[in-house]
Amino acid sequence: MTFDAVFRAARALIDGAFVPAEVGVRDGIVERVAPLGTGLDAATVVVLEADEVLLPGMVDTHVHVNEPGRTEWEGFESATRAAAAGGVTTIVDMPLNSIPPTVSVAALAEKRAAAQGRVFVDVGFWGGVIPGNLDALRPLVAEGVFGFKCFLAPSGVDEFPAVTAEEMGQAMVVIAESHSLLLVHAEDAHTIEIAPHRGGLEYADFLLSRPGAAEDTAIADVLREAERTGARAHILHLSSAASVEQIVAAKRRGVDLTVETCPHYLVLIADDIPAGATTFKCCPPIRDEANRDALWSAVTTGAIDMIVSDHSPSTPELKLAGDGDFELAWGGIASLQLGLPLIWTEARRRGVALEQVVALMAERPAARVGLHGKGRIAEGAAADFAVFAPDATFTVDAGSLEHRHPICAYDGRELAGVVRAAYLAGERIDRDAPRGRLLRRDREVGAGRAA
Ligand SMILES: [Zn+2]
Repeated sequence: MTFDAVFRAARALIDGAFVPAEVGVRDGIVERVAPLGTGLDAATVVVLEADEVLLPGMVDTHVHVNEPGRTEWEGFESATRAAAAGGVTTIVDMPLNSIPPTVSVAALAEKRAAAQGRVFVDVGFWGGVIPGNLDALRPLVAEGVFGFKCFLAPSGVDEFPAVTAEEMGQAMVVIAESHSLLLVHAEDAHTIEIAPHRGGLEYADFLLSRPGAAEDTAIADVLREAERTGARAHILHLSSAASVEQIVAAKRRGVDLTVETCPHYLVLIADDIPAGATTFKCCPPIRDEANRDALWSAVTTGAIDMIVSDHSPSTPELKLAGDGDFELAWGGIASLQLGLPLIWTEARRRGVALEQVVALMAERPAARVGLHGKGRIAEGAAADFAVFAPDATFTVDAGSLEHRHPICAYDGRELAGVVRAAYLAGERIDRDAPRGRLLRRDREVGAGRAA
């Protein structure tokens, strides 16, 4: 029997452990996992170097591509090239910052048309919940969105307004009936409104304007409404570790809840952010060192389910607007290409294993959104891989990253873990040949099949 491709690695991540293995691929699917030395035959044989490990491609379910409408901020080509360079073989695109936002079937069709034939990794889409679009949710589910996002505080763009907790509850009723998923940007609008907004160059002042209490209040609303409606719910970009306790309690009560956090909350701390350095602005904000440690603890116990990028670039003009005034600059950090090395660098310093990092960044996000054939190397799963050299190091150079603008909060940082190659459906991702597919939640996507 001859495969299309065979991968031979002294260390391949199979069933949560590194083992010497050969992986045989046919028609984009892993057809055989065998011990190294079996001698599987193929037209293409990829033999990993001694310092490399074979990982499943990462699955990043929180990416703002911003196209169409704000393509000058990012775009499908640049974002998915960055993904591939970072070992991410599947992304799910957020419904906002593009114009139109993905809050109707017509808007979803515009997104798909913009992405078609131009993506280097597989791409799925989230829909959006805004005031007044309840009737669009079921049709969007039927059109294959992976779930919906809403905000409980202003999103930063006028065309994607926040909902009230009550409106979120109404959406959850529909989402529960549709077996879909609601992602919530959980910061409470009122708590932010009454917080001091001094503006200016000091990060500490910005931090006071987005207190952890805003997250804690909004998360309590999400937990209550998810419990009441039975909806599947997901807390986006958890920054306030103070909420871990109520999250764990809700999970114990059986609320169908998952929680993500992001590299910036696990790697950076408020004290290290220089005055006027608005490249570090994001919402919710990066908090203090004790908070970062508590988030790591929640990641390792499973209270936090996954790590995704929240890659959210803009133009340099907006990111640096206000000459260092944190109130005026655009909030968002671009890290799609760096997520795996960022987390790995910090994880190994803390004694967290690479196996666990990959579970957090590939298997769990894939499983939560219904991509059961992605995020792991197994017979029947998609042949999406990252070739990773965990002990190799590099220095981040913002100008050489693949995302559109050379702005990066990690510029100049030395990181461990080099992504040497990425494979999609068994074929090496080529910088000039977009072979990514557009995914639909309502189809059999488990084995990497696409619309
Ligand atoms: Zn986001």
